[in-house]
Amino acid sequence: MHVLICGASVAGPVLAYWLRRNGHRVTVVERTPELRVGDGGQAVDILGPAVEVIDRMGLLPQLEAARTSTDTMTLIRPGRPDVTIEAAQLLAGVSDRHVEIMRGDLAKILYEATREHVTYTFGTTIEGLREHDGGVDATFSDGTRGTYDLVVGADGLHSGVRRLVFGPEEAYSHFLGGGLAVFSVPDFVGLAGRVLGYHTVDRAVALYPTRTPGRVRVVILFRGPRPDHRDPAAQRRLLREVCAGLGWQVPRLLEHLDAADDFYLDGISQIRLPSWSRGRVTLAGDAGYGPGPAVGGGSSLAVVGAYVLASELAAAGDDHAVAFPAYERAMADAVAASRTIGPSVLATLIPRSELQVWTMAQAMRLLPRLPGFLQRKLTSFGGGPAAMLNGVDLRPPVAPATL
Ligand SMILES: Cc1cc2nc3c(=O)[nH]c(=O)nc-3n(C[C@H](O)[C@H](O)[C@H](O)COP(=O)(O)OP(=O)(O)OC[C@H]3O[C@@H](n4cnc5c(N)ncnc54)[C@H](O)[C@@H]3O)c2cc1C
Repeated sequence: MHVLICGASVAGPVLAYWLRRNGHRVTVVERTPELRVGDGGQAVDILGPAVEVIDRMGLLPQLEAARTSTDTMTLIRPGRPDVTIEAAQLLAGVSDRHVEIMRGDLAKILYEATREHVTYTFGTTIEGLREHDGGVDATFSDGTRGTYDLVVGADGLHSGVRRLVFGPEEAYSHFLGGGLAVFSVPDFVGLAGRVLGYHTVDRAVALYPTRTPGRVRVVILFRGPRPDHRDPAAQRRLLREVCAGLGWQVPRLLEHLDAADDFYLDGISQIRLPSWSRGRVTLAGDAGYGPGPAVGGGSSLAVVGAYVLASELAAAGDDHAVAFPAYERAMADAVAASRTIGPSVLATLIPRSELQVWTMAQAMRLLPRLPGFLQRKLTSFGGGPAAMLNGVDLRPPVAPATL
C-alpha cells in the first residue's frame, strides 16, 4: 500500500516506521517548513508500553540519552517558605518505565530513524480528500495531488484531516476549563537542573530548563473560559490579565512575553470522538484522542496508538475495513481512561483554594520521609497515565527488525 500520513511529530513518524517495516510505502506531509525541534518544545512523558514500542524500534538508547535531567522541584507560595523535593521522589510512582523527554527531541529521534525510508514533505498540508473505490485522492497546499490507499491524520489537537473528514472541531473538542501558555525567556533566575513552580489560587507558573544554555521555559496554567488559540495578540493580552497581581518572578517573566518567538497559548481541551475512522481515513495520536495538553499521557497514547494501528493493519492482511475498527477497539479502554485522568490532573495542578496550595506543600514535605512503597503509591496519581495503557495489547511485530 501507499499510505499518506499528515503530521511529523510523534504519532506520524512512529506509524511511518511500523508501516514501512511491514512493507508499505509511506509519505508524510508536515505543515511546518522544517522539523519542529527548536530547543525541544515542551517536556513529554513516555511511559510503560510506549517505552516498549520505542524499544522495539531499536531507539531506546537514543531516548535514554535525550531524557531531561531535573534534579529538584520547588514549590513557591506567596508569603510562605519554599518546599524543595528531589524530582525522583516526586515521580517515583509514575511508571516502572518512564522517560521524560522534550517533544522536539523525541520528534527528531523518530524522524532520523525513518527519513531514509519514508518520503517527508515539509511546508505542506492536505487541502482536500476524496475517497473512491480505488483509494483516496488528496490535494495538497503546494498544488500537487496524489492517490493513496489509506490516509492517517496524525496532525494533533487541531487536526486538519479530522476537520476535512469529520467536520468542525467544535463538535468534539471538550474544554476542560483551563488554559495553558508556554514561552521561553532568558535564565535570569539561574535555574540549573531545577524546576520551580509558583502556585496560587486558579493559577500556576512553572519554570523549566531548556536545552539552550541561558534560556528557560515558562509554563503557565490557569483556570478560566476557553481562549482563542488562533489570535496571538489577544492571547498575550489574556495572559497579562490572568497574571495580573501575581508576585514572585512573574512580572519579570511577562516583560519577555512580546519578544518570545515560541509563544503558545491554548485552551486545555480533549478530543472526544465516538469513532475516529471513516472509510480509508483514520486518525492517530492527539488528532483522534488527545487527552489534553499538559494533563499527561498524550504522547504515550500517540506512540502506542500508532503502533497498534500498524499492527492491526498487518493482522488484518492490510484490510482497513477490518483493521480500523480493531484498532479503535484495542485503544478504547485506554482512550476512555485518558478522558477521566485529564480533569483530575488539572484539578491537582491548578489549585482551587489556599487550602489546596497548603496541602500540596505538606504532601511534598512529607513525601521524602515515607518508605519507598508509600512514595510510589502516593505519586502514581491513582495509577494515572501509565496504568491507562497497561491493558493495551502490544502484539509482537510481524516483520523483521529492520526497515
Ligand atoms: C505545552 C504542552 C505541554 C504538554 N505536556 C505534556 C506532558 O507533560 N506529557 C505528555 O505526555 N504530553 C504532553 N503534551 C501533549 C503532547 O505534546 C502530545 O500529546 C503529543 O505531542 C501528541 O503527538 P501527536 O504526534 O499526536 O501530535 P502533535 O505532537 O501535536 O503533532 C502534530 C503534528 O502535525 C503538524 N500539523 C498540524 N496541523 C497540520 C496540518 N493541517 N497539516 C500538516 N501538518 C500539521 C504539527 O505541526 C505537528 O508537527 C503537552 C502538550 C503541550 C502543547
